[in-house]
Amino acid sequence: LRMTPHGTVTSVCGFCSTGCGLKVHVDERGQAINLTADSSYPVNLGMACPKGWEALTPLGAKDRAVVPMLDGNAVDWDEALQVFCRRFGAIMDQHGAESVAFLSTGQIMCEEMFFLGALAKFGMGMVHGDGNTRQCMATAVTAYKESFGFDAPPYTYADFEESDVLVFVGANPCIAHPIMWQRVERNRHGPEIVVIDPRKTETAMAATQHLAIKPKSDLVLFYCLAHWLVVNGRVDLEYVERHVDGYVELVEFLKDFEFADHLEVLGLSAEEFELFARTVANGKRVSFWWTMGVNQGHEATRTAQAIINVALMTGNMGRPGTGANSITGQCNAMGSRLFSNTTNLLGGHDFTKAEHREKVAGALGMEVGRIPDRGSWAYDQIIEGIGEGKIKGLWMVATNGAHSWMNQKRFKELVGKLDFFVVQDMFGNTESAQLADLVLPAAGWGEKEGTFINSERRFGLGRKVSRAPGQALADFHIFRLVAEYWGCGELFRGWTSPEVVFEKMKAVSVGQPCEISGIEGYAMLAREGGVQWPLKAGDGDVVGKERRLFEDGLFFTANGRARLVFETPREVPEKVSEEYPLVLLTGRGTSAQWHTQTRTSKSAILRKLYSEELWVEVHPADAEGLGVVDGKMVRVVSRRGTVEAVARVTATVGRGQVFLPMHYAQVNELTIGVVDPYSRQPNYKFCAVRVEKD
Ligand code: SF4
Repeated sequence: LRMTPHGTVTSVCGFCSTGCGLKVHVDERGQAINLTADSSYPVNLGMACPKGWEALTPLGAKDRAVVPMLDGNAVDWDEALQVFCRRFGAIMDQHGAESVAFLSTGQIMCEEMFFLGALAKFGMGMVHGDGNTRQCMATAVTAYKESFGFDAPPYTYADFEESDVLVFVGANPCIAHPIMWQRVERNRHGPEIVVIDPRKTETAMAATQHLAIKPKSDLVLFYCLAHWLVVNGRVDLEYVERHVDGYVELVEFLKDFEFADHLEVLGLSAEEFELFARTVANGKRVSFWWTMGVNQGHEATRTAQAIINVALMTGNMGRPGTGANSITGQCNAMGSRLFSNTTNLLGGHDFTKAEHREKVAGALGMEVGRIPDRGSWAYDQIIEGIGEGKIKGLWMVATNGAHSWMNQKRFKELVGKLDFFVVQDMFGNTESAQLADLVLPAAGWGEKEGTFINSERRFGLGRKVSRAPGQALADFHIFRLVAEYWGCGELFRGWTSPEVVFEKMKAVSVGQPCEISGIEGYAMLAREGGVQWPLKAGDGDVVGKERRLFEDGLFFTANGRARLVFETPREVPEKVSEEYPLVLLTGRGTSAQWHTQTRTSKSAILRKLYSEELWVEVHPADAEGLGVVDGKMVRVVSRRGTVEAVARVTATVGRGQVFLPMHYAQVNELTIGVVDPYSRQPNYKFCAVRVEKD
């Protein structure tokens, strides 16, 4: 079959937060034929990882959800929407507005999140809603807000190429963000690359220094580093004096963090620590990068802030190649933080501030009384709220909590108690959809349009290049229909297309650090290869330039100064014991898998790039003691469950540790239901297990 493209459109990839531009080649009907990486897009410069190359394949999967399903039976949209409104309405009538919640995602477009949040809270009257970004980015959000005054990752991807020292903490970009890693590879300064990770990851293997610290000793490590900088006179006191609050208090606090006293806790030698400290101190342009190894911990927020503290203390902020830089996970994690109306009011506003409620209501032309005056419960509070009898109805959109949430058996048990559970997804056979009373079939990436915000704050445009199968609808259109059936359609009658809603996002953003009033519309995004926030009206001439935050040393706090935040480290949530002597680490398995495999498992090519069987990495010395043989099945047992996995006997993990890739449904049967107290992000990175051989 000869396939001659009729045209090409650039669409931003819908998997990870790198936000690569993909050239999608279409036929005369605008239907995608195939794709290539976009060599002119400023993010990926012609590169894409296996998931990007295979992005079209899941759209054609045979098991797409194509019709609404009610209690396992196909129904039409009219009946589905009537049932949706009748049952959620009855619950709210009987138990109050707080008894129904939504759980959304970092996978749908900004305009869809914006619509969902406004519909659920301003139209339907819900109070509680959160996103699966609680599982990945909530920690960075909380840390940045307290330290910088706003959720504001300061960097641009050019920083990967401009640093002379890059420090990756709990991050494995070689496989988790492979195109970002390619940007590191393009660095011509011969940089020192330090990886801080208990596991010898692909990135650790490529690093110049690997600090294989003991699990969850990262907070102590950064306090020791800060102390070392103080006592060795390596703090940029001029920068601190001009731009940072809390230094005197931090110095006092750090007195207990002489590194020599903590080497055993860290699992490092004095030489390893001192080399690391000198590397940071001597670097001229030092950038710090973190992802889930930090964010998914029991003291995650303070750990992220300990990294931020060091960047501030060394003046590594606001200059090329510097920054305390959280790499987001999902393609639209940042959109889910700023424009979803979950824990933040739209545009990074605060539900509890009357002036913010008035401003947002004014921008949207709605009555201010429709806006709740309190923030939402977080994901864990919503789920636990089911057990407490407070949450009776749940609407889950484009996420798969029954696979991805911690302590999975409890999650499933609680969801089973709901009076009404709705899942809206591309696939009706996810672990979550299987538990739902009603499944609404949704269009996927490539079948709708809208914007994503990538890790460097760049709005990119996702394009419609394929028709959704059967009766599946774009989430945007499902929300429009729900509004009409619920009886609040009048409020959203003008919300006719994603681009119209994008204009509302612009209006809401005015005066916020994330202001985007200067983005002229989708045409500008298409023309410029995306646009980073902020962009105020009239600032168009900066588009296309390297743009990072805090170049002027002014932060988003009330006094314009950054804050050093610190706290005494906490005990790990579950200590190892005789019965459970090993620490379980979880993380990404390969660059070919994505999250719960809902989409990546549909590609035969991607499946060839990863093991279909769950594996567990076990250190050779532990394997020998346990009689575990490489390639044989073992059981990994925690206090919450047991999983079977193929043993990989390897020194990628240290003694006393095992590693499981997170993409397999069983893994979260083992993880412990503990969250960071400030960000309420789950701790996936530390629990006690044992390994048993057959
Ligand atoms: Fe780029 Fe991420 Fe998509 Fe891979 S998954 S092509 S790295 S955006």
